Amino acid sequence: MNQADIAGHLAQTADRCVRCGLCLPHCPTYREARLEAESPRGRIALIQGWAEGNLDPSPPFLDHLDNCLECLACERACPTLVPFGNLMDEARAATWLAAPAWRRALRDAWLAVLASRIGTTLAVGIGRLYRGSGLARLATWSGIRRWPSLAALHRLAIQFERLPRMATTQPAQPESGDRIGLFLGCIARSAQPGAIEASVKVLSGLGLEIMVPDDQTCCGALHRHNGRPEGADRRLTRNALAFTGLTTIGLASACVAELRVHPGLSTTQDICRFLADRDWPGTVRLAALPQRVAVHLPCSQRNRLGDEDAAFALLRRIPAITLVPLPDNLFCCGAAGTYLLQRPVLSRALLAPKIASLASLRAPILVTTNTGCALHLAAGVREAGLRVEVLHPVELIARQMRFT
Ligand code: SF4
Ligand code: SF4
Repeated sequence: MNQADIAGHLAQTADRCVRCGLCLPHCPTYREARLEAESPRGRIALIQGWAEGNLDPSPPFLDHLDNCLECLACERACPTLVPFGNLMDEARAATWLAAPAWRRALRDAWLAVLASRIGTTLAVGIGRLYRGSGLARLATWSGIRRWPSLAALHRLAIQFERLPRMATTQPAQPESGDRIGLFLGCIARSAQPGAIEASVKVLSGLGLEIMVPDDQTCCGALHRHNGRPEGADRRLTRNALAFTGLTTIGLASACVAELRVHPGLSTTQDICRFLADRDWPGTVRLAALPQRVAVHLPCSQRNRLGDEDAAFALLRRIPAITLVPLPDNLFCCGAAGTYLLQRPVLSRALLAPKIASLASLRAPILVTTNTGCALHLAAGVREAGLRVEVLHPVELIARQMRFT
């Protein structure tokens, strides 16, 4: 499509909005700012104004678009089914084309690093150096919070860990049937190595044959939501090839949702739902856990996968556990992919009520099914001085797993 066709398509999609405002109370940025331009309806009007040639993509215009988390709470609330996620992705891609070449090159390089294995390996190395050299302590002491962008990098750098050599041992008597292809995701390799190890342990413990295709890459969501659909589609195609003939299972809800965009990966399953619905062999049991466990629901789990119950259904298999939904689960935590780095002030403002409600829950464990949310929540927990472990639900299952 040329620029005129893209603008025409955007205007046509935006026209489906009847301006009823029913989405406004569901929008986290509108709740924060109380500005029409920070609401779904306002953003749709801005996109329409630009597509019809009545508005320039000025810095404030782009800010209002970039402040959107793409949480899709608005899409779910909309009675006329405006496809807000697609509209925002397309608007970002279109405004991207109008950006200066140097800015596009910089953003491309940044995204390529974030979405690559080399990038995450580098992040782990830098994070270790940062912690080990005392720079992290110095930064905390110097009051790094005054510089939001640096503070956001600091929060991530002190959490990254190397993915240990994976125990990809196969079960002694593999079940006949599907071969599982485990999708790891780019950031999860360094942000949630424990969840990856736990997934391998649980799946092989259930007698499943697991493959971890080496040629897999980032799911593409980082590129798609940053206005680079070609980069996203390239990554999806590579993943579809890497997982050919396998039952694809992903750990992070946002990655699973993005993988499903590709026809060859449309049956990709979320590991929680897969484990919850499966019949388990009689030789495997879960030890009781008489504890309160808080459950955070990522927007991708709720609004993209449309499966709010997956983590609950899986964890209910653990005897004596008490699951407590995190209050405010209907609103985004502010992680939203690269958002926590790009919009650090708003990102932290959205996190604050979650951490406050977590503090009042008296739950020693918080689970979440998305990697970015886990990183963001863990940083908030640490900063608030709470004694709460942030885990993927499958890590809890792996801990409680016993064999007879
Ligand atoms: S996607 Fe989320 S942040 Fe963006 S307009 Fe919709 S509700 Fe608001
Ligand atoms: S709910 Fe749908 S139709 Fe109503 S203002 Fe929001 S986007 Fe437009």
